[in-house]
Amino acid sequence: MAKRLQHVIGDSRVNAQATRWDPVYNPTTGEIIGEVPIDDNNAVDHAVEVARGAFSSWAQTPILERARVMFRYRDLLEAHHKDLAEVVTREHGKVLSDAYNEVGRGIEVVELAAGAPNLLKGEVLQGVAHGVDTMMFRVPLGVVAGITPFNFPAMIPLWMVPPAIVSGNTFVLKPSERTPMTSLRLMELLKEAGLPDGVLNIVHGGRTVVDRILNHPAIRAVSFVGSQPVAEHVYRTAAAAGKRVQALGGAKNFHIVMPDTDLGKTVEALTSSAYGSAGERCLAGSVVIGVGGVADELVEAMRDRALHLVVGDGTDPATEMGPLIRDTHRDRVAGYIARGLEEGAKLVVDGRAHPIPSQGFFLGPTLFDHVTDEMSIAREEIFGPVLSIMRQPDLVQAVAVANRSDFGNTATIYTRSGASAQYFRDHIQAGMVGVNIGVPAPVAWFPFSGWKHSFYGDLHATGTDAFLFYTERRVMTSRWW
Ligand code: NAD
Repeated sequence: MAKRLQHVIGDSRVNAQATRWDPVYNPTTGEIIGEVPIDDNNAVDHAVEVARGAFSSWAQTPILERARVMFRYRDLLEAHHKDLAEVVTREHGKVLSDAYNEVGRGIEVVELAAGAPNLLKGEVLQGVAHGVDTMMFRVPLGVVAGITPFNFPAMIPLWMVPPAIVSGNTFVLKPSERTPMTSLRLMELLKEAGLPDGVLNIVHGGRTVVDRILNHPAIRAVSFVGSQPVAEHVYRTAAAAGKRVQALGGAKNFHIVMPDTDLGKTVEALTSSAYGSAGERCLAGSVVIGVGGVADELVEAMRDRALHLVVGDGTDPATEMGPLIRDTHRDRVAGYIARGLEEGAKLVVDGRAHPIPSQGFFLGPTLFDHVTDEMSIAREEIFGPVLSIMRQPDLVQAVAVANRSDFGNTATIYTRSGASAQYFRDHIQAGMVGVNIGVPAPVAWFPFSGWKHSFYGDLHATGTDAFLFYTERRVMTSRWW
């Protein structure tokens, strides 16, 4: 029987009391590598109680000591960088180099958190009246929670946990039930770095466990990353329960290719953006708008690249694209290929016909041309290796089409013209903007988030926003007699 995963609460691994267990797969082989509890809602109450118990002493631990845990954690993550990447590839399927880079992005957030003594400094204004001074302190909230998606099992928990706990909060993490193992390994290393018991707790589960978190009266704030409908649900429910919420949602990312671009470099950037990680990235390019006469040449070059893309086991260095996360998701993505054809788009490369391994949840890269604005493949998040090409006569119209999307996670322009890049930067409605960058990835020292339906909330993930999100400001005015 597959290994049953346990919660981690306080100083122990806790057996779940669940009525439903879901298999955790290795998507490359289709093999079941574990079982995860889905509906042990009472574990949330237990974890919150333990996190509450740990809060006061952790919040009073000197900030330098909390930061030193982050320094040690950073070194341990670096020492285990490769084996963490292997855990990610095993349960997610992405190629090892991608998994390695994901862990690297997560380590950068730990480096950000190690700078907490600077970031958590308050402010003082002396003499606001005769003999009266005012000062502002940043204080932790208490127990906070994080709910994460399947597609970045290392990076996204690391967006949340290090800034939250270094600020003095205690944490309940609910990782994705489809990729729950990486979080357990991240937690082991954090304990090894010296984190006291109860500061970080992991509760596995699905929808009902999330709802218990969203309604738990002792949880002060919720960080969420996942699909748009769930992000909206999390935002509405947790906000109605009086919590601070940041909910990062789904995406439909537009890339605009100008006629003056370097076509070879653009094709490489687009291939990696659209097909890297099998298109299961919130920053994946999913619609390309070719401006002016560039589209025909672009489609030809993309077709050639897609047809020769090496699809297979992510642990093989020659592999460029791994499997999708589940067979059900692969079938859903294949359903979009059928819909694109029905809606009248031209199927240039059919991922269903690509050479793939005989086992696992694979689907090849797909390329559509002559896609129009109203087609579902241009509007809905597919979250798979399907790229749609549209055409527009000029940049202004291309940006207008991209801005009609409900989403605004990221957008990129490929050009050699500063003026085009500047117009794009100033008019595109997206939170993460790229110029000649296929995936404008999060940089830990900056806030990360999309706009429009890609984000519900106010303060973004990482950067100084994270420290504002996970702390309360207290202002004291004093005089001495
Ligand atoms: P998902 O929304 O299915 O799941 C995310 C989390 O929510 C999981 O922990 C899951 O257990 C929980 N959940 C699922 N359904 C729920 C429900 N009905 N009620 C309450 N909780 C529920 O997302 P996913 O498939 O794991 O991840 C992929 C999605 O995440 C894509 O839409 C992608 O664009 C998005 N994403 C966004 C960002 C970003 O930064 N904006 C980053 C990564 C992924």
